[in-house]
Amino acid sequence: CGKLMIVATPIGNLGDITLRALEALKEADMIAAEDTRRTIKLLNHYEIQNKLLSFHEYSKETRFGEIIDALQAGKTVALVSDAGTPMISDPGYELVRRCIAKGIDVESLPGACAAVAAVTLSGMDCSRFLFWGFLSPKQAARRRELEEIREKGIPCVIYESPNRILKTLAEVCDVCGADTPVCVCRELTKLHEESLRMTAGQAKDEFERRDAVKGEFVLIISPEKGCAEDLTDERIAREVNKRLKQG
Ligand code: SAM
Repeated sequence: CGKLMIVATPIGNLGDITLRALEALKEADMIAAEDTRRTIKLLNHYEIQNKLLSFHEYSKETRFGEIIDALQAGKTVALVSDAGTPMISDPGYELVRRCIAKGIDVESLPGACAAVAAVTLSGMDCSRFLFWGFLSPKQAARRRELEEIREKGIPCVIYESPNRILKTLAEVCDVCGADTPVCVCRELTKLHEESLRMTAGQAKDEFERRDAVKGEFVLIISPEKGCAEDLTDERIAREVNKRLKQG
C-alpha cells in the first residue's frame, strides 16, 4: 500500500519550506493540490516537476476514488493546500479520514502555519490557546461565536480577510470590550509584515485611519484582561516598583 504525505508549504516567504517537504514533492508519484496554479509557482521556484492533480473538499467522488486507487496501488501522494498546513482552515480532512478508514499510511510533514506564527509573535501567554479559524460570515452566528470565545478566557486565534477585519474588530469591541488585548498580524513572513499588539479599540482606530486595508490577517484576542497592559511601559514600571517595595 502507498502513503499519503500531508505537506506544509510556505505562507508567504518561499524559503519557509522544509528539506523533507521538498524531497516529498519531488519524489511523490503525484501531488494533490488545492489550486494547481498556486502550487506550480512553488514547484517552479524549486525546479520541481511532478504530476499535479487538483483536489479540494468539494472534489467529485471520482477524484477521491482516483487518489485512493493510486494509494492502494502502492503510490505515494503528496497533499498540499494553497499555503501553510493542509486542514488548518484548508481542505484535506475528508481524504485523510478515508485513508485512515482504508488502512492507508498517512504521514504529516509539518511546517509553516499562520496561526502558529501569530501565536509566537503575540507576546501573550499562549501556554493554552484556542484556534477558531474563520468566524461565521453570518452576523448573528459571529456574535455568538465571539461570546463563546469571551467565555473561554484564553487567547483565541482567528483567521480574517482584509475586507472584514475592521468589522470584526468592531464586533470584538462590542462583545468582549474595547479594552480587550489583541494582536493583529498582517502579511506574516512577507515584505509588509507587521504585528500590532494593542487593545481591540486601538486596533480598530488604527485600521480606520488607514487608506486601504490589504493583505492577509491573523487576529489573536485575549479575553483574559491584562496582556496588552502587561506590555505597556506604565504597567512594567508599576510592577517594578511593587517588587522593589516588596524587597
Ligand atoms: N492552512 C493555512 C495555515 O496553515 O495557516 C491557512 C489557510 S486559510 C484558507 C488562509 C488564512 O490564513 C488567511 O485568510 C489568513 O487569515 C491566514 N493567513 C495565511 N497566510 C497568512 C500570512 N502570510 N499572514 C497572515 N495571515 C495569513
